[in-house]
Amino acid sequence: MSRVYNFSAGPAVLPEAVLQEVADEMLDYKGTGMSVMEMSHRSAAFQEIIDETEKDLRELMNIPDNYKVLFLQGGASTQFAMIPMNLMKNRVADFIVTGQWAKKAYQEAQKYGKANKIASSEDKTFSYIPDCSDLPISPDADYVYICENNTIYGTKFHTLPNTKGKLLVADVSSCFLSEPVDVSKYGIIYGGVQKNIGPAGMAIVIIREDLITEDVLPGTPTMLTYKTHADAGSLYNTPNAYCIYVCGKVFKWLKSMGGLEEMKKRNEEKAKILYDFLDQSKLFRGTVVPEDRSIMNVPFVIGDKEMEAKFVKEAAAEGLVNLKGHRSVGGMRASIYNAMPKAGVEKLVAFMKKFEEENA
Ligand SMILES: *Cc1c(COP(=O)(O)O)cnc(C)c1O
Repeated sequence: MSRVYNFSAGPAVLPEAVLQEVADEMLDYKGTGMSVMEMSHRSAAFQEIIDETEKDLRELMNIPDNYKVLFLQGGASTQFAMIPMNLMKNRVADFIVTGQWAKKAYQEAQKYGKANKIASSEDKTFSYIPDCSDLPISPDADYVYICENNTIYGTKFHTLPNTKGKLLVADVSSCFLSEPVDVSKYGIIYGGVQKNIGPAGMAIVIIREDLITEDVLPGTPTMLTYKTHADAGSLYNTPNAYCIYVCGKVFKWLKSMGGLEEMKKRNEEKAKILYDFLDQSKLFRGTVVPEDRSIMNVPFVIGDKEMEAKFVKEAAAEGLVNLKGHRSVGGMRASIYNAMPKAGVEKLVAFMKKFEEENA
């Protein structure tokens, strides 16, 4: 067996200890004689898994009691529609467009009401976060929407926008559990889990209880109504049970690592190794303004397409894989999520140094 350092933006690297544990339990989960994949979602064994998973997440994120945790299918993208269907009482919402994912959410919301783009960083290829201290928030906006960490462009809101009292909704897919957050600042904080938590196909939605109502837009499907899932403890229909199980393992791993304060420390340390190298390199250059840099997704370029292709190819041969940047930005991107060990980042930087010397 030979494992690589996987810098994919998602689906992404998972903690090796977790993969080993789920492998050990594959044929016989704790004496049940079956895999979690084969298990009824109505069984006592699975109820224990989902309960424990929620409990550990609540502990890790310090989620207040007046928030529900929902495990929903359809990934993050389904939320682009589910949020307006459930929250657009006035049919108005404000969007801060800082990348492709925010843009997709903004465009989807237009199907359900008036979606206003109140700020954007598209003028400079989404390489920064706009000043959000005094935005033209719509007086009748049902919520203000952000994508907190922009997976493709490598920017992060280090300060939340001033929503002037309006509800904040945030997509945290690519920074979920990377550092502590104050959940009480959000109406909804959600993300697809395949970036920093678990396997693909599920979103975790943390939603303030008073936002869970039957008063949704006419025609909203039962499956896209938060209340359906909140009332049923995320077991209205068959959930992505195996994904919930693996997420639960990751939560236990995060707790054993020391929780989110410790992850923040480790993630900052890893990111600094890479950014410090980029800042002094004569060949490579980061694409994001320093003050808005993400500690999860680090895009960088050489500025010569052929040389970049050579870099990605030679890196892969060294076991440093999935470094090709998103097609809209080009260049390279290293996603260095919670499960990426520091040794992986160090090996990447050592390889970049060597490549720079060889191609000077
Ligand atoms: C990957 C990603 C999405 C889309 O996730 P899916 O689960 O594939 O729908 C949405 N938002 C952000 C920030 C992402 O990184």
